Amino acid sequence: MNSDILYERSKKLMPGGVNSPVRAFGSVGRNPLFIDHAKGSKIYDVDGNEYIDYVCSWGPMILGHGDDRVIGAVQDACENGLSFGAPTEKEAILAELIKQCVPSMERIRLVNSGTEAVMSAIRVARGYTGRDKIVKFRGCYHGHSDGLLVKAGSGALTQSVPDSAGVPLDYTKNTLVAEYNDRDSVSRLFEENKGEIACVIVEPVAANMGVVLPEEGFLEFLRSITTDNGALLIFDEVITGFRLSLGGAQEYYGIVPDLSTFGKIVGGGLPLAVYGGRKDIMDMVAPVGAVYQAGTLSGNPIATAAGIATLRILIEENERGLYDELEKKGSILADGFRKSMGDYVWVNQIGSLLSVFFTKEPVRDYESAISADTKIYARYFNAMLEKGIYLAPSQFEAMFISAIHSEYDIKATIDAILLTGKIW
Ligand SMILES: *Cc1c(COP(=O)(O)O)cnc(C)c1O
Repeated sequence: MNSDILYERSKKLMPGGVNSPVRAFGSVGRNPLFIDHAKGSKIYDVDGNEYIDYVCSWGPMILGHGDDRVIGAVQDACENGLSFGAPTEKEAILAELIKQCVPSMERIRLVNSGTEAVMSAIRVARGYTGRDKIVKFRGCYHGHSDGLLVKAGSGALTQSVPDSAGVPLDYTKNTLVAEYNDRDSVSRLFEENKGEIACVIVEPVAANMGVVLPEEGFLEFLRSITTDNGALLIFDEVITGFRLSLGGAQEYYGIVPDLSTFGKIVGGGLPLAVYGGRKDIMDMVAPVGAVYQAGTLSGNPIATAAGIATLRILIEENERGLYDELEKKGSILADGFRKSMGDYVWVNQIGSLLSVFFTKEPVRDYESAISADTKIYARYFNAMLEKGIYLAPSQFEAMFISAIHSEYDIKATIDAILLTGKIW
């Protein structure tokens, strides 16, 4: 197996043979596939196997792989040079497109990764409010910056503790952890830390503990409690942006956050992410304001070209009902899982985001998400892989459906579920 040979070779060079931990397939008990290429809804490993891809690079490839229009735009951009470290028209074009889709993005800064976008947005919120503490939700992921790698202090502990070695306690002591969909847990933090909380950051639809939907009124509640307490509301739309609708979760749910972060889709598969929001808040950022944030490759012309092409296509396809189609595919797939696996699983789905949890209880927060049986998930993952379906190698990641997944792909996937038999 060429994948196995490459894995052995890579392990001697990189920690775990990979450049991002989940790629190592650790939680599904097998070696990772090494990818040769991908086109449309299909991904091909170095051993020549073809799979229907539901990872889609963890979200960016909403148009499917190797879209000719995006690749053409990238090739054209390359002809003009790879990076200048000076402003270009492309940055303005991309910012205009983002603002057109997401009106709350009055001022925008381009960066290179979701991690960087969130880290910067939080710095701005702290600079603007003059407060240090932030609130995040257990099970929501916002990249790997020090202050966000926290777990909630248990029981008597009121202080959050680092969730990674190498993160000093001092870096996480200002990160307060609330429970997703639990308003009381948020109210309590605001009562205990009056006048000290700079912002609440949330994935408006959580998609990093598997997909977990906000319950009715939860996001509205976050909007009002932050406003009432002089804190900012940050929507981390790195996954939901341009996926739930052209205007992201904020359009879908009709909530206007103060700041937002985007990544994944907005770069069309190249390293590009965005933070931005209210003009008066974003004017805190250097060189206008006192919050420092910079980047050598920020707004890079090649990544920007991929982002522009992707957003233009999404805007065009939206007119033809793209997001309704994605919702339809998502719900057909979700129903397929529910029908074939019945009471053994809990399925959460919204638009083109989907998770199948191997638990009988409704999944509405971190606690219920981790009640899922990861051993059964591993069996299910491997059974599906054998049938040519490439799923996320972890129970706690979303399935991503792209515009190019066909009815036939969806049907083949449902057939594969039936063929796996009762592995649960
Ligand atoms: C992926 C992700 C990030 C981090 O983005 P990177 O580009 O991997 O640094 C942040 N927030 C959310 C919600 C994400 O899904």
